[in-house]
Formats: sequence, structure tokens, C-alpha cells
Amino acid sequence: MRFLFTYIKGTSFALLVLRSLLCLPSMAISQNEHFGELKYFTYGFSRLDCKTFCFSHPSKKISGLLISQNPKPSDAKLKIQSNDSLTGTRVRLPTYWTGKQVVPKSVPILILAGHSDSQGIMGAGTSGESVALKGAAPMDSNMSDELFWNIKIRDSVVKLGRKKGLNINSYDAGVRQIIDGNDPRTNWSVGHRHSQQGGYALEIHFDAYGKYGFGSGLIPAFTRKLNTLDESLAKSFGRYPLFFRGGLGAARRGIRILEIGKLEGNLEANLRDSRLREKTVQTIALRIVNAIHEGLLADEK
Ligand SMILES: [Zn+2]
Repeated sequence: MRFLFTYIKGTSFALLVLRSLLCLPSMAISQNEHFGELKYFTYGFSRLDCKTFCFSHPSKKISGLLISQNPKPSDAKLKIQSNDSLTGTRVRLPTYWTGKQVVPKSVPILILAGHSDSQGIMGAGTSGESVALKGAAPMDSNMSDELFWNIKIRDSVVKLGRKKGLNINSYDAGVRQIIDGNDPRTNWSVGHRHSQQGGYALEIHFDAYGKYGFGSGLIPAFTRKLNTLDESLAKSFGRYPLFFRGGLGAARRGIRILEIGKLEGNLEANLRDSRLREKTVQTIALRIVNAIHEGLLADEK
């Protein structure tokens, strides 16, 4: 029995099924055969931003699983996706999720700086438009510009968050290059343990410039238990689909990723300008802390 697995983003479900039936050579159904031989059923996977089609065709010795991500938004969430004077372009991808689970006010929050343990290897983070396209010198020659800013935002968020009474901490392995993502010292491992113990782990990122990036927004963890913190951050920054890029490494480990914005244009210029830097970092950090704080207020309602 052959098994096929297909995942297609941005294709409507009906079209995917039709296309797959037409394209798979051993699935070609002649006039004499009737469709009834195909056992197919759909799962209610709408919460996962996708639909699933399982099928088996015993006489053709073929079975499979098709997953499609429907491009049509089911509600008005796209309306809040726009440009932002501070963080630039917001992600404009169809999403279906809503974070509803109420989080206790005392939830331990862990803030991580994206790429802090993956310098000098693949996944070091974006160098930003200034360095990559405009010939500017990196902010720190030992790290990508993205990590440089991720650390600044992480530390400011923790400082401001504590002032606001949040149970908030950060983690840094203190080593800038750990090859194995599953090494117990990585952001992934520490964030995973934190979320398994009931905490909220948020990793700070800046998205790539130009056509390589999507924009600001929260990439949720791959779970059905999305909560009011997720909802509040998504309202403030934008909302990525649940199954973004097939479920990123962090998302699969229960870690939320916050893309502050694409490292380009005004956002990057304001960060790089030494007169505006502190204010820009503080404003971004305050927006994050306020969103977290508001997300926790649901506990009181
Ligand atoms: Zn990143």
C-alpha cells in the first residue's frame, strides 16, 4: 500500500482534493469505477487553520493524507492587519485562531532573545536591511543585528514587566553557538520545559527585510490551548497563522514567537539612530508589557 502525504498552503480545500485526485497517476478514476470506493472523510481541524482529507483506495493500493490551509479568512481578523507607525508592516496572512483560555495572573513568563544560541550558523537571524543592502556596519560584529536588538528588547521587557508586577524573567545560555537545537541549554529546550510546567515562554524576534519577511505579529505555539496572552499580543502586533511554515521548531515546543517587525525602513532607522534608540526600544518594550498585562486581566473578569 502506497502512502501519500501532501500539505499545501494557500489552496482551497476543495481544489486541493480535486487537484490531487487528478494528478496522482494511480488515483485516476475511470468512468467505470465509482467514487464510492474512495473512503474519505474530513476532520474538524479548523482550529489548526487547516483541513485534512484522509483517503484510502484498496484496489489501487493507495492511501494518504492531504492537508490544506484555506486562503479565505472566516472572519474579520484581517481588518486589523495594517501598517503601524512604530513597527512597520504587519503580517497579512489569513488566520482563524482566537486565544481564549484564561491565564492565572501569577503565570511565570519567560522572555527569550531569538537566535541568542545560534550565531555563526544557519538560523543566526536577519542582518537587517541596513547591513545587507545599504553597506552599514553591523551593530556588533559578534552577532547578527537581529540578535543585537532582540537582546535589547528582551532586557527592557523584563525590566518594565517587573515594574508592572509581572512574574517575568529572561534566559540566556551565555553561549552564542550551540549546534544541537535539543541541547538542554538552548532557548528551545529551556522554553519547552518552561511551557510544559505551565509557564508562558515568549521569544523576541525581528523579521527579515523586503520580500524575505512577513511583518510584525505573534506566531502562536502549536497547541489548542491558545490563551488570553496570545490574544492580547496578537491584537497589539498582528496575528500569524497557527500552522505557519508547517509549525516552526519553537512553536512545536510550546514557545510563542513575537516578530516585532521587519528589520528595515523606519523601524530599523529609529533603532540605529543613537538619539532615538533608547526611546524606540522602550516604546516597543512597553507595548509588549502592556499587551501581556492586558492579557492577564481576563483572570480578574
Ligand atoms: Zn528571528
